[in-house]
Amino acid sequence: MVRVGIIGGSGIYRLLESPERRVLSTPFGDATVFLGEFGGEEIAFIPRHGEKHEIPPFKVNYRANLYALNLLGVERVMATNAVGAIDPELAPGTFVIPDDFIDLTKCREGTFYDGKTILKVRGREVGGVIHVSMTPYTYCPEIRGALKEAARELGLEVVDKGVYVCAEGNRFETPAEIRAMRILGGDIVGMTGCPEAALARELAMCYASISVVTNYAAGVGGRAKLTHEEVLEMFSRRINDLSEILRRAVGNIPVERSCPCGEALDEFLSR
Ligand SMILES: [Zn+2]
Repeated sequence: MVRVGIIGGSGIYRLLESPERRVLSTPFGDATVFLGEFGGEEIAFIPRHGEKHEIPPFKVNYRANLYALNLLGVERVMATNAVGAIDPELAPGTFVIPDDFIDLTKCREGTFYDGKTILKVRGREVGGVIHVSMTPYTYCPEIRGALKEAARELGLEVVDKGVYVCAEGNRFETPAEIRAMRILGGDIVGMTGCPEAALARELAMCYASISVVTNYAAGVGGRAKLTHEEVLEMFSRRINDLSEILRRAVGNIPVERSCPCGEALDEFLSR
């Protein structure tokens, strides 16, 4: 069984030394997963955008990716995201471990529970109409803690809170959209954090992400134009630090879960 899964965002396409590549079939499509040693144990790694960044955010098969991790026995998931800063205090290069999100995506498959499909979660069958709770923690407090502790050990600064707004894309946001997101309470904006976080909860997995601010969002910081090159350039500057945070965080994740994430389906499993 593999305990920890990592979903790498823009800029992270390879994480493991000589990994084993596996294509796993799920009721939601195939997922490509890489297995190998990282941070002292065997983990599963999924490059969210594919190995060559060929999958745009709205085409990522979030359900297949999460379900493939579930098939491997993964209960703990860490993810990375490249984001724009809505809050002007979050300068490019800053690491943020968000504590909540706002999902503004419009055309993605946002749930496993379509009323028909029967899933297998840790040996138990579950299906029907299921509404998981995103409280008291939107993201797993233990995984967030492991990431924060890893950064501290490495002497790297992280911002330990923030609201991640997920935009549909594929284009970057307009200045008016960013102003609206700010009014809604958003701090950072990206295109891949949702529905991934909620899908993990639907499988009773622990999930947290660490975001790298690659740029100011539209209209923030007085910038006129935003380019994808700018995003990748800033990400490449922080990629080594981010990889080291992830590596250390693997070892910081307690073996026993003491967070409530594993109970997300309990009321439905007992029906
Ligand atoms: Zn948890």
